[in-house]
Amino acid sequence: MARPTGFADASASFDDAEFVILGVPFDRTTSFRPGARFGPDAIRQHSWNFESYDLETGLDLADARIHDLGNTDEYGSAEEMVRGVREELRPVYRAGKFPILLGGDHACAPPSVEAYPEDAPSLGVLYLDAHLDFRQSYLGDARSHACSSRRMVERVGARNVVVLGVRSVSREEVDDNKTVGMPFVSAHEIARDGIQSTVQRALNMLKTERLYISLDIDAIDPAYAGATGTPEPFGLTPRDVKYVFDQAAPRLVGMDIMEVSPPYDQGNTSALAARLAREAIVRVLASRRGR
Ligand code: MN
Ligand code: MN
Repeated sequence: MARPTGFADASASFDDAEFVILGVPFDRTTSFRPGARFGPDAIRQHSWNFESYDLETGLDLADARIHDLGNTDEYGSAEEMVRGVREELRPVYRAGKFPILLGGDHACAPPSVEAYPEDAPSLGVLYLDAHLDFRQSYLGDARSHACSSRRMVERVGARNVVVLGVRSVSREEVDDNKTVGMPFVSAHEIARDGIQSTVQRALNMLKTERLYISLDIDAIDPAYAGATGTPEPFGLTPRDVKYVFDQAAPRLVGMDIMEVSPPYDQGNTSALAARLAREAIVRVLASRRGR
């Protein structure tokens, strides 16, 4: 049998789909080591590793209506990529579907939030990252992956983005944020307070009707997800991130998984990213179906 190329269980047509996968093979703003452009296809490939039946909810992903749009074009600049991703995702949100964007470096995430309709219910962002990504501009590029939380703050407001898992920031970012006021919880605080109370606190802070999750895979410890552009020790566990997804699911309208870099992968990082995408789908389904 031919090896399937799309995301596992993505057998629905676009019109019938509840969840829509889109890959962005773009890593031109990576600051340390490139490779995330190969992320979408590696995550798709590893998505076939898993059973479609979900032990915890009793749901079967084979019954989920998932469509895989494939990958976007390979863009020449970050500006071009941002315009392209927005255009791809606007009709997805408009049709009431749940987009799952696979990166690509973290520069690919803000256009997904920007594509969310202005007249739709209010949107907050749970931003999982080892880094604050709060620079106004980096190496002359305001659309660098080092500026992504800042671009989202400009779209939804400082109080409507909460960053979890931070452990690498510049002094300038911290000082700058004192005037802007985007809440963040460091990985060290999460280790001290526990993921459950942290997530409760984050969800209480976000007063918006709907939520979007942006997952930079480097939020997770390099022991589990080392295949990424800028690995950073003292990270979250995969189970911590699963807990975030489980708790956010009832308000979730879209998500992305960014910065998986297959050239450094022995398979575990791509498998984890694929499994987390499937976890999000099954949890959103479960909450919509009252399980
Ligand atoms: Mn990031
Ligand atoms: Mn990061």
